[in-house]
Amino acid sequence: MTESGFLTEVEGIAGAGAVAADVVAAGFDAAGCAGVVQPSDVASLAAVMRLCSDRGWPVQPAGAGTWLRPADWPDAAGAPAGSPPARPEPRAAAAAAAAPRRPLLVSTARLAAVLEHEPADLVIGVQAGMPLVALHEHLRRAGQRLPLDPPAATGATIGATIALGAAGPLSTGHGLPRDMALGLEAVTGDGRVLRFGGRVVKNVAGYDGVRLFTGSGGAFGIITAIFLRVRGAPRADATWSARAADATGAADLALAVRAVLDCDALELLSPTLAAAIGLDSAWTVLARVAGSDDAVAAALQRLDQAAARAGVTADEPVTGTVWDRIAHDEAGAGAHATFRAGAALMGQALREHERNLASDTMMASTGRVAAHAGPGLVRVWHDRAAPHRTAVTTVDAASLTIVRRLGAAFDPAGVLVPGRRWREMA
Ligand SMILES: Cc1cc2nc3c(=O)[nH]c(=O)nc-3n(C[C@H](O)[C@H](O)[C@H](O)COP(=O)(O)OP(=O)(O)OC[C@H]3O[C@@H](n4cnc5c(N)ncnc54)[C@H](O)[C@@H]3O)c2cc1C
Repeated sequence: MTESGFLTEVEGIAGAGAVAADVVAAGFDAAGCAGVVQPSDVASLAAVMRLCSDRGWPVQPAGAGTWLRPADWPDAAGAPAGSPPARPEPRAAAAAAAAPRRPLLVSTARLAAVLEHEPADLVIGVQAGMPLVALHEHLRRAGQRLPLDPPAATGATIGATIALGAAGPLSTGHGLPRDMALGLEAVTGDGRVLRFGGRVVKNVAGYDGVRLFTGSGGAFGIITAIFLRVRGAPRADATWSARAADATGAADLALAVRAVLDCDALELLSPTLAAAIGLDSAWTVLARVAGSDDAVAAALQRLDQAAARAGVTADEPVTGTVWDRIAHDEAGAGAHATFRAGAALMGQALREHERNLASDTMMASTGRVAAHAGPGLVRVWHDRAAPHRTAVTTVDAASLTIVRRLGAAFDPAGVLVPGRRWREMA
């Protein structure tokens, strides 16, 4: 079957206005795809998935298309040389026999409505294609917030954020997307519509499928709706700042802060990153504290005392826009890596990554290092595009077997996320 013949079939399901052969002109940075379909309802998205599964046609799930991995997709010559076997092995005989095909981008961008929001219940249900910024704005108008601030471009969708398990500095105080998602709806690789969890906090009896999908990267299905726990917006929200002499000093200071106070966010910034967002070029610790006016004033005092005990004089609090500037800088990364160093090794990891970047003349001025001090998550990024951006998930042998079986259960024809690779741990 030709690409154009296949796209005509997709049009027959989703409607001509929902399909484009030129993905770039349609606004998606995904030149290696056969085309893009943006269904306007879940039933037609499910029908498109059934068609793709029947035809063995690869599908790249997408939201707004701001964080796709074009280098991952097999082109006419097949998967990139030397890459491990694609996950899951294609099971349909027809799919196995067929020549590699360019994937169809299936985007949730037109599924962007608020499904329900009862402010008193502190729960909101939205379709997956809703941009994160629109969701924040909707909640702000209701005096509420979703404490989720991943590095993300402007149009980035809530569905992709949940599918990638992506989070930012607020994860220190508020946890990860999997802690916020109460329920979700997803369409499997072969077009079944599944619903997991519910709309209230205490709803889990039996297996928690929401967590399985959160962070799955779309490997088990396309998320179409999510129910999220939200919070009341705080009256006061302040950002405390202090500079340290070096990476280890900054990590020690962050740990001293953590020992006396649960912050909303506790972030360590390398000198290059601090300078890029308009602060002094120094190792910097930022602590975000929110709550009532009195609680925030008391928290700032405790932070000053913790710093004084560590021999550091805190700076004046900085404006809250500093968090947007960090997210914006990180979202502009050409290459990005995350390491779970843990609290004890955070200082050492920061120092080593900074040293590595500094020793590379191309990256010395653009390489950034930062860490969420709560989980001890160190991130490194720079603006030089990486030659290979293949997403490889490394798991042990026993888990790999189960992950592959799960993939087969949700996606029998193995059409979802063609660039995804599962690799056994060395
Ligand atoms: C560790 C980490 C670091 C990150 N760093 C950055 C960064 O530096 N800059 C940045 O811009 N973004 C970063 N992100 C991703 C960030 O969260 C995305 O910007 C945002 O989620 C993309 O939104 P989008 O709608 O444009 O997604 P898209 O680009 O459309 O999709 C991104 C991926 O999400 C999956 N996906 C999308 N929608 C769905 C869905 N409904 N169901 C299932 N799967 C789906 C697909 O597999 C797709 O490959 C990072 C993510 C992680 C996990």
